[in-house]
Amino acid sequence: MRETSFNTRAVHFQAKEPARNASKAKPIYQTSAFVFTDLEDMESFYEGEKEYLYSRYSNPNTDDLGKGVALLEETDDGVATSSGMSAILAGVLAVANPGDHVLASDDLYGGTYQLFAQELPNFGINVSFVSFQDLNKVTESLTDKTVLIYTESVTNPLLRVEKLEEVIALAKEKGIKTMIDNTFATPYLLQPATLGADLVVHSATKYIGGHSDVTAGVLVGEQTLIDKAKGKVITLGCNLSPFEAWLACRGLKTLSVRMERQSHNAKMLAEPLESHEGVARVFYPKYVSEKGNGAMVSVDLADDVNVEAFFRSLGWVKIAPTLAGVETTVSYPLRTSHRTIPDELRKELGIGAQLVRISVGIEDEKDIIAAFVQAIESAK
Ligand SMILES: *Cc1c(COP(=O)(O)O)cnc(C)c1O
Repeated sequence: MRETSFNTRAVHFQAKEPARNASKAKPIYQTSAFVFTDLEDMESFYEGEKEYLYSRYSNPNTDDLGKGVALLEETDDGVATSSGMSAILAGVLAVANPGDHVLASDDLYGGTYQLFAQELPNFGINVSFVSFQDLNKVTESLTDKTVLIYTESVTNPLLRVEKLEEVIALAKEKGIKTMIDNTFATPYLLQPATLGADLVVHSATKYIGGHSDVTAGVLVGEQTLIDKAKGKVITLGCNLSPFEAWLACRGLKTLSVRMERQSHNAKMLAEPLESHEGVARVFYPKYVSEKGNGAMVSVDLADDVNVEAFFRSLGWVKIAPTLAGVETTVSYPLRTSHRTIPDELRKELGIGAQLVRISVGIEDEKDIIAAFVQAIESAK
């Protein structure tokens, strides 16, 4: 390098790849492309011998996330994406073509509802929504164009546990693919692919990341569908950056210990709220898995509790329009995640002005309980 000029040296200063011990932590391959020694070497990528060419196609860190979640979900393979939303889009486009119909649950994350109701029709894909609590309604809503059934395993924000086994069995009988948003349950509690789901999607922004410092998505499932989805991710450009994939992978390593503690804390919080006179109704799943019921608790505050005052009285508990971090947070679905759901559907679902959604963190359970009891009592 010494013989070159300053401008050349300024960009080529890097030492050669070290031949030292491998690092314990996964390095971040913060690179947009990979280099080759000669044309034959480059050809070897296209022959499948070399793994990496260009980071929009694939990268060791994004591969880690896709494969890591696939391993935990006990399915073939996965692809990491720029957000939960783009993972959902890639999954749907891997299955549905123009003219096809998708049947979705009516109790969905607001962004998913918007994607399905407003954007998919522009791709020529029609979506209808129905309650998945009644299997007869699901059956009646299928058409000869239905190629995909979509639902969340535990719904947001009312924490309904969908009848996955029945829905998947029905789809299999009709030759229809199933895609399950497993964000709230996480593979720690539930693995929809082991029940027969073809695709499982996560907003890795939530429990997989777990620290509220990354926006990411991951789609896992059966190999041929994931191969198709990878193609969509490459062409749509909704790949994840290496650093964000690295953060999500770091989160994934502690998923089980976080979920264990957070699920326990949520259970401990749901109990005293059930019997509190300032609470009209607690939404907390009866049963998700033998390991627990997840870390979300939604609450309809009693009519004599002033919601604005409740949010002002939370003390150390932060108000945030997200969930799943290690800190306990509270959100207000009516004005955030479910703002875009039509009023009528929102009323039908029971997402009203007194509903607050609690994402329970890893703090000490007695502090969490005290914070909410105190906030409710001072807002009465
Ligand atoms: C947050 C969320 C999404 C969307 O994920 P982003 O990472 O925000 O794009 C999808 N489904 C559920 C259940 C969510 O909570």
